[in-house]
Amino acid sequence: MSFVIPAPPPASVEVTGTDDRFPVRRIYCIGRNYLAHRKEMGHDDRKPPFYFQKPADALLETGGEFPYPSQSENVHFEIELVVAIAKGGVNISIEDALDNVYGYGLGIDMTRRDIQSEAKQDGKPWESAKSFDHSAPISPIRPASEIGHPDSGRIWLAVNGEVRQDSDLNLQIWNVQEGISHLSKLYQVAPGDLIYTGTPDGVGPINPGDLITAGIDGIGELEIKVV
Ligand code: MN
Repeated sequence: MSFVIPAPPPASVEVTGTDDRFPVRRIYCIGRNYLAHRKEMGHDDRKPPFYFQKPADALLETGGEFPYPSQSENVHFEIELVVAIAKGGVNISIEDALDNVYGYGLGIDMTRRDIQSEAKQDGKPWESAKSFDHSAPISPIRPASEIGHPDSGRIWLAVNGEVRQDSDLNLQIWNVQEGISHLSKLYQVAPGDLIYTGTPDGVGPINPGDLITAGIDGIGELEIKVV
């Protein structure tokens, strides 16, 4: 088959320990999945998880440069555990959920917070606050065959060496199994999907020139330069 214009390259992510790459279909993000972050954003209820998506070509791999996005003066970092899906389906049970996981990484859910706040006030979609170009920095994926399925471990993010987010995966309101199961009731989860699983508290602004470093114990680290 040939295309009428050059086809865009398929999105993919480095996999630790191999030259082969993880192909990316969709990026789902879970909102408000740590209680302390829900509170800092003005919510303290315990409602079911909700989702939004970023386009697959918004991925930015570690070592990359993050161009400060247009039309915003308040861009925030949100460090998150990322789940890479190898299988999938609909109505996946909590018990079977981890069988669908290829591996884990960490990512930053970059957010135009000022645009998001306006959208919330006006009842508009979050699209341009969340789904802009380069809005999904990501570390290499580590296969679950190597590290298992971590349900605890330090998750942190630093700006210019100063730690700004410092929490533990065991503080997630909805764990990975519950997240996959719930998501699969709304969408057909499929191979190549990434799930950004929500951020702990401590989110804050970035500026051009900042060096962002982040990590999750046992999974890996990530480094992005804001330009
Ligand atoms: Mn987030």
